[in-house]
Amino acid sequence: MDVYSYHLGMDVLTGVDLGGTKIEAVVLGPGDEVLARHRCPTPTNGYPATINAVAKLVHMVEDDAGVAAPHVGIGGPGSPSPTTGRQRNANSTILNGQPLACDLATAIGRPVTLANDADCLALSEAHDGAAAGHQCVFAVILGTGIGGGLVINGRLHTGPNALGGEFGHTALPRPRADETPGPACWCGQRGCLESWISGPALEAQWVALKHTALRATDIAASPHADAQKLIDQWLDRLARALANTITVLDPDVIVFGGGLNAMANLTGALDQRLGDLVFGGEYLTPLVVARHGDSSGVLGAARLPGPTSPTAPP
Ligand SMILES: [Zn+2]
Repeated sequence: MDVYSYHLGMDVLTGVDLGGTKIEAVVLGPGDEVLARHRCPTPTNGYPATINAVAKLVHMVEDDAGVAAPHVGIGGPGSPSPTTGRQRNANSTILNGQPLACDLATAIGRPVTLANDADCLALSEAHDGAAAGHQCVFAVILGTGIGGGLVINGRLHTGPNALGGEFGHTALPRPRADETPGPACWCGQRGCLESWISGPALEAQWVALKHTALRATDIAASPHADAQKLIDQWLDRLARALANTITVLDPDVIVFGGGLNAMANLTGALDQRLGDLVFGGEYLTPLVVARHGDSSGVLGAARLPGPTSPTAPP
């Protein structure tokens, strides 16, 4: 389908959430209303199939809405390298090293802006979600990966290395003797926060205690003593990392997204721990759970600004 065969709406936003298991696309109207929304499974048969699936979904959702946006915001794992434009730091490693932004722009027929899913969570929740009205918003995704995004005065802060807010690949702070050097992370380092507290990390810790495999969300909900011990450790590790972030950045609010944010009393349990960990012992930071749930990714992607420079890698 020729995307320009229908009306291009300058006040319309199109966003795509490119996830590990599903791709979702949305078109938002001038009043933030959802004009159309579609989702499909993420292909498992290679990179070109993923590009085609995203382009097809964008064309389908805009066809349904009867209007196309001037550019398309796409949230997914990792981010484009600021020097080569090629995707990097994605835990869906099939995307790493690929000229993802360029290929998507070609396939869709319009400019695209790529950001990671935590950036999209931060944008969406800062705009009209649980973090609305706050100046400095730090968002954390607690799921298959651990991600972070930073929005200041309504704008995404990316930084010269495109690493702004990146949280999951900082080292676990104040490691105990049995936490050194830490598990190997897919990024090449050891002891990254993601290797300690992601869903797969929690599931591996459960199996290491001689239990049969269980999903991270089920471990979090289990009354078993081993599960409760693991969740206590998980909260302690997350709290240590958040305390570092609060001490460096002192955001006005921290908002949580991802599958593990549904854990019972997540923010209350972190509140209890953070008072002892934040420098000076006084801490007032509101901790909130994403209002838009798992729609934050696609809604935030739609709010990504248009690209200011060509996305083609050398
Ligand atoms: Zn890492």
